[in-house]
Amino acid sequence: MRGVVGVQYLIHTLGCQMNERDSEIMAGQLETMGYTAAASEEQADLIIINTCAVRASAEDHAFGHVGRLKQLKEAKPSMTLAVAGCMAQEPGTIAWLKKHAPHVDLVFGTHNLHQLPRLLDEASERDEMLVEVWKSAGDSLAEHVPSRRRDGVRAHVNIIYGCDKFCTYCIVPFTRGRERSRAMTDILREVQALAREGYQEVMFLGQNVNSYGHDLDPKVDLADLLEAVEEVDGIRWVHYMTPHPRDFSDRLLEVIGASQKISRQLHLPLQAGSNPILRRMNRKYTREQYMALIDRARAAIADVSFTTDIIVGFPGETEQDFEQTLEMVREIRFDSAFTFMYSPREGTPAARWEGRDPVPNPVKKDRLNRLMELQYEISLEANQGLIGKSMVVLVEGVSKKNDSVWAGRSQTGKVVLVDRVPGIDLTDRFVPVHIDAAKTFYLSGSVTGDPLGAPSALGHALPLLQS
Ligand code: SF4
Repeated sequence: MRGVVGVQYLIHTLGCQMNERDSEIMAGQLETMGYTAAASEEQADLIIINTCAVRASAEDHAFGHVGRLKQLKEAKPSMTLAVAGCMAQEPGTIAWLKKHAPHVDLVFGTHNLHQLPRLLDEASERDEMLVEVWKSAGDSLAEHVPSRRRDGVRAHVNIIYGCDKFCTYCIVPFTRGRERSRAMTDILREVQALAREGYQEVMFLGQNVNSYGHDLDPKVDLADLLEAVEEVDGIRWVHYMTPHPRDFSDRLLEVIGASQKISRQLHLPLQAGSNPILRRMNRKYTREQYMALIDRARAAIADVSFTTDIIVGFPGETEQDFEQTLEMVREIRFDSAFTFMYSPREGTPAARWEGRDPVPNPVKKDRLNRLMELQYEISLEANQGLIGKSMVVLVEGVSKKNDSVWAGRSQTGKVVLVDRVPGIDLTDRFVPVHIDAAKTFYLSGSVTGDPLGAPSALGHALPLLQS
């Protein structure tokens, strides 16, 4: 690996938290080589676009960005431009880049980002684009790769890569490959090191976190991992995302219910409320099984809050199917929901079906609006029900929208704003808060006592990566 002096990098990250974590790993390798973070594209000697393939709009955004960088590359030919991430795993992207963006120097994928120093070395010796994308991750997982964490409050930790579920609308199993779990000892070592650094909150990441461990020998599961992390001194809160509603065992619910540290927010992507649509989506559960899981979770976890993802306008979705989705939303009363209109993704089974995208756009829009209207009403009511209650809030920093308040989150994932007091820095502190008011998307409250525990030893949010 060649060391560098005085060169600067910038990483643009699109998409999910897995991608953000990948960008942290790229940044760590670059800083080990001697790169420093650039404040702007103009200053950067290396720009990496870490792409997302989950929606067509994210892909268009990435292609547009690559196109716009052509001018900069022409003005500064020594600058290296790289494209990485999920889109790089798709053959269509490589073909597009070769045809429309020959100014790109390097393309690499999700499975070989730990080889970034070598790839940069090789790209610098070539006159044309270097494309190195692995179809799969191979047999072993890359451990001990340096990383530069972006967030000074919450540390993201990968526990499982890839997905075996093959939902018919989703590209992830093709871009991220089959499920591969990290050894529990490696994860715990990382969490212990994070606690020593001063992190008090960790977020376990995976496309499908409750599949964790089924591929290890001996087999372990997410409940085992969460139980073990409960014992790590210094870590106060543990979150995990994203679980799949199918593999949620009673034992996992019991472990969460008994824990002082594990998040009480269950994000359970419903996607649709009608069995024929769930079957077409290959979600591997029925509405009845999903409802039974909600009941089991309510019984096992005090103060549990539910959030979800829902797609409207999936091929074949009738008005009656959609009504069943609304019915489940009314019945479960999710605290919040991410809602999407279906659009076909190239490379997925659903995109190859006859008719491809048969629900007309105006119908999709109408369903989305009705769903959002219902969900907003429920979210507001759920939040209003918390007025007068007390909760612990981890303050993440000054609100981006209003610098007179701190913004943080409760253990159930609620955004909570509290007034700033001059001269006191609450960033990264756990504070007791009395909830005074509620809106659809957040709660407001007042601090009722001293922060709990010692301040962390960390510097705060590190603005290294742009998204
Ligand atoms: S569970 Fe389904 S939606 Fe989620 S990553 Fe896997 S294939 Fe995609």
